[in-house]
Amino acid sequence: MEPASHRKQVARSDSSESQPESDGSTSENDASSRSDVKGSMSSLRCFPISLPGMPFATSATQLSPTRKKDRGSRLKIYEDIPKWLQNNHFIRDGYLVHCSASECIQSIWHWHNETLNIWTHLLGFFFLLGIFLYDVYFRLPLIGANSRDTWACILITGTYCFTLLLSSIYHTFKCMNKKMYYLLLKTDVVGIGMSLSATIMSGTYYGFHDNEFWQTFYLTCEIIILSIIYFVTFHPVMGQPQFEPQRNVVIASYVLFAMVPTAHWVMLNGLESPIIQFLLHRVVMVFVHAGVALVIFARRFPECLYPGTMDCIGASHQIWHLFVILAKLWWHETGFMFLQCHLQKSCDKDAFKSPVFW
Ligand SMILES: [Zn+2]
Repeated sequence: MEPASHRKQVARSDSSESQPESDGSTSENDASSRSDVKGSMSSLRCFPISLPGMPFATSATQLSPTRKKDRGSRLKIYEDIPKWLQNNHFIRDGYLVHCSASECIQSIWHWHNETLNIWTHLLGFFFLLGIFLYDVYFRLPLIGANSRDTWACILITGTYCFTLLLSSIYHTFKCMNKKMYYLLLKTDVVGIGMSLSATIMSGTYYGFHDNEFWQTFYLTCEIIILSIIYFVTFHPVMGQPQFEPQRNVVIASYVLFAMVPTAHWVMLNGLESPIIQFLLHRVVMVFVHAGVALVIFARRFPECLYPGTMDCIGASHQIWHLFVILAKLWWHETGFMFLQCHLQKSCDKDAFKSPVFW
């Protein structure tokens, strides 16, 4: 799927000895890059967020020499970035490298290949924060939630908000240096683990709301699996890039394990029961969401088909972000449906005391 010329280009880049492999120290490369950054921030400021005329929205391989000169030295092509930033060779252009913290903050108002990654989760954060406040001050009192349910809801939505913020911070500051990149990458992975747990554990909490034994049993199993995920992520040896497949297996096993309490929930209630009739398809949709999003993320689709054409808009990571937000909203509303079914002893949507938006 990858053009031969492109493969050659990538291979050249990966084996290049002159690749700036910064560790955040003040190497000559870094120093020149830093002064380059300062000198070119003014040119970066000239590019407000607007679609037309973005000099780096086109693949670098397609830029004319004049255009290459015009694009300034601020944004880099894939071959010019250090290896620690090279994780998707289908994204060819629009990279920020070696920025200071204040430059990173300024960069959120400009077009580069992280702009949409930052804004999708930043706007998602503010949107979910609004929902969080609406829940606490309006919805939960309206449906008569007890303190346990209220805290469960606060914990779930609060976790979703926090992890969206962590992701925005990662995408904003990852270009600073190698040390910061790996630190923020780990916090982003922690956030993904927390978000996944909030979804899976809340499903267990709501599904076994009136069955404390199974609720405690499954929640304990899920906490153990989550601990293993964090162990293999942060272990000095297991955390190395070569163990990524093993780490992915552990994460996938967490999602697969979530199917066990789901199947048990269906068996306990029976396919014909109102709650299963009403909510099973919404639970299944969460697994579908997760599956599609993971495939898009892992296959780097659609930019794998047209390398360099989706550097700033339409890349797999941006689609993944949208899926993440939609899945959170979908599951959040499903949680309220669960709660109202349990509290009202009925799953009649028209009789719900609080509206369900989606
Ligand atoms: Zn992301």
